Amino acid sequence: MSNNTDFLLSIENLTVSFDGFKAVNEVSAYIDKNEIRVIIGPNGAGKTTVLDLICGKTKATSGSIKFKGRELTNMKEHEIVLAGVGRKFQNPSIYEDLTVFENLEISFPRGRTVVGAIAFRRDAEVIDRIKEIAEMIFLEDHLDLKAAYLSHGQKQWLEIGMLLIQDPELLMLDEPVAGMSVSERKKTAELLHRIIKDRSVLVIEHDMKFVEDIAHRVTVLHQGKVLSEGSMERVKNDPKVVEVYLGH
Ligand code: ADP
Ligand code: MG
Repeated sequence: MSNNTDFLLSIENLTVSFDGFKAVNEVSAYIDKNEIRVIIGPNGAGKTTVLDLICGKTKATSGSIKFKGRELTNMKEHEIVLAGVGRKFQNPSIYEDLTVFENLEISFPRGRTVVGAIAFRRDAEVIDRIKEIAEMIFLEDHLDLKAAYLSHGQKQWLEIGMLLIQDPELLMLDEPVAGMSVSERKKTAELLHRIIKDRSVLVIEHDMKFVEDIAHRVTVLHQGKVLSEGSMERVKNDPKVVEVYLGH
């Protein structure tokens, strides 16, 4: 049996109250290293708020979020990023006027290169890493293209790349395949399976086909609480889940 300190992320009794309304209400969840966890649930269930709490955008009213044993609830957003948590919002925040290469370049964590390293060595390291990431996000042939000319799906991948280049141990994605074509969805599933070799991924998603393709485990939220949790197989046959979510 693993104890709680073996999890990459341990969320316990997490609650946030907005003027008395508990958008997230006593939520507990444990995410393993190399796990893809998907959060599903009806609109307004509190899914996005859970990600806001983990990345420090929203402060918890009570409860605990431990990442590699460190308490995140009293840390600032940028400290949480430095601790190794990356988060993608629903609308991509890429720079349309910059090329794919430049978008990845500005996301490279300069602070982590060795102080005093020779400039060209550092540059070579950056270029290698950009190429590696570009390949991973299916954009290796578009490095010199302005981001404005990418398809909707390619823009989403670029933003995932901009997070990956910072090498987060936990990557959080809010509805990453919304608006994507079927083939883009398949490639996104492939991308997620590739990147969890080095990290865990927490995804909010409505597309059940996509969820089946990627999820190791699924957490169902409803009215701020965990309604059900387990394998997709288990969760989709849970009568409570069928009643409030999948049945519609
Ligand atoms: P989901 O992502 O599951 O659709 P959200 O987490 O966005 O749901 O929202 C959960 C509930 O909390 C909704 O009723 C929403 O209106 C409310 N909510 C979210 N953020 C705030 C906020 N900053 N202030 C007040 N209410 C909020
Ligand atoms: Mg949401």
